[in-house]
Amino acid sequence: MTQTHTLSPIRTYRDFVAGQSALARAREFARGAAIRVLSAGRSPDKEGIRFPYYHHVFDDERDGFARQLKTMASMGDFISLDDAVAMLDGGDAIDGRYFCITFDDGFRNWATNAVPLLLDAGTTAAFFIVTGFIGTSLEADRDKLLGFYDQGDLLMEFLSWDDCRAMVEAGMTIGSHTMNHVHLADLDDDSAEAEMKGSKDAIEAELGRPCDHFCCPFGREGIDFLRTSHPGMAEKAGYKSFLTGRRGAMRRGASAMMIRRDHMLAGWGDYQLKYFFSS
Ligand SMILES: [Zn+2]
Repeated sequence: MTQTHTLSPIRTYRDFVAGQSALARAREFARGAAIRVLSAGRSPDKEGIRFPYYHHVFDDERDGFARQLKTMASMGDFISLDDAVAMLDGGDAIDGRYFCITFDDGFRNWATNAVPLLLDAGTTAAFFIVTGFIGTSLEADRDKLLGFYDQGDLLMEFLSWDDCRAMVEAGMTIGSHTMNHVHLADLDDDSAEAEMKGSKDAIEAELGRPCDHFCCPFGREGIDFLRTSHPGMAEKAGYKSFLTGRRGAMRRGASAMMIRRDHMLAGWGDYQLKYFFSS
């Protein structure tokens, strides 16, 4: 057996970041310390919708995620993505503080860790899947799975379609994150459109219900998507929302076709939440 074949799937955040350089870890530590100081002078938004976004809840992040859900519940109300979009499209004043939790990519730890904790907290979330990775197996698709991240040595497990169906049954929303986790801005229009439509069709065929929401991979405006073409293209493909990776609150008048989100790690402390949910 070669070393590649003995590689086991990543199930803890500790293993996920084990390959990070000492410099990257030092920077993350310094950033955390700076945010701790800065958060003291900030107070959370009085109103608006926040869209926290996660990628994973690894086995060693369960406690942190449960704590974060409690913290958010103490700060405002959870709402589904359908309700959040209806609120934005309605154009009325958004009185109160709301959280619409989202997840990107399609990892198996959503089904094993995130969803049970969301249900314990009595809430729902929207999960954006990369359809080309759903139903892959560690054995048959090892090279494809190792290629999901640029590092090439992180073996991630993805959901099966049965997992996705069970999540929908449990009240979760499944949206599209393209077929192949592409940089839309690097594609010609036909290919970008095919990624949006192909993933929507696959989700609707597998889950037997409309797929109304699209989340742009990587999510940086001007780098990963173009404001002038991709949200409009998503709307034409039948989506009711376009989610990005740009931080910030969504207030009255903001467009559901340009939703800002706050990237989170489930292990972060409350001071980090407070910092990122303040403006
Ligand atoms: Zn992604």
